[in-house]
Amino acid sequence: MTQSRRTLVVGNWKMHGSHAANEQLLEALKAAGPLPADAAVCVPFPYLAQAAERLARTAFAWGAQDCSQHEQGAYTGEVSAPMLADFGCRYVIVGHSERRALHAESDQLVADKAKAALAKGITPIVCVGETLAQREAGETEAVVKRQLSAVIHTLAHCAGEMVVAYEPVWAIGTGRTASPEQAQQVHALLRAQLAAATPRAAQMQILYGGSVKPDNAVELFAKADIDGGLIGGASLKAADFLAICRAA
Ligand code: PGA
Repeated sequence: MTQSRRTLVVGNWKMHGSHAANEQLLEALKAAGPLPADAAVCVPFPYLAQAAERLARTAFAWGAQDCSQHEQGAYTGEVSAPMLADFGCRYVIVGHSERRALHAESDQLVADKAKAALAKGITPIVCVGETLAQREAGETEAVVKRQLSAVIHTLAHCAGEMVVAYEPVWAIGTGRTASPEQAQQVHALLRAQLAAATPRAAQMQILYGGSVKPDNAVELFAKADIDGGLIGGASLKAADFLAICRAA
């Protein structure tokens, strides 16, 4: 990270938690005091009210893990960006690889979701990343550029307002982290792509995600274009998540 950008650490709880378990985790975050990084947790929809109540006036913002591209209408089971705004969400993750893979979300759909979020003042955290097969075929650059390009075109002059998360699919939940050098290489490519599209590229936060733990966060976050992390498994344990927030 360079001096001009603040580190951002975001927990992605995925489909984990219960009212009782969250209570303990949120209380521990609340007790943490000031942090050297911006920090947030993206929780399952039913727990947004709980996160909003527990994290108000703390160092932590909160957000969701997906949103609809539509504002309202006959879309059973969907949750809109205006609804997230009602719960004070600062962030929403869009285009997580699990949604791209399990729900067949296209690059354009992800871009439309990012646009819907920004229209309500919610910062989209746009995930990009290659699979292991794509990396081994030498396609990493082409894949992440294609994924980001759809969002840049759709957001147009607002592209500088998103957060980007590089999450190599082969590193998610596998315990296999990209090396700081591997991650930095892709982050630099992404920043160059952003620079061609927005004058804000140098200020934009590009997060790394994929098996970030307290013992590898310092090295990752020290890289020039890595501005923090999107944290899955380790965000469910308060001590680990706080240690990562403090690695900034
Ligand atoms: P992980 O997940 O930290 O458990 O690898 C990261 C993510 O999917 O956002």
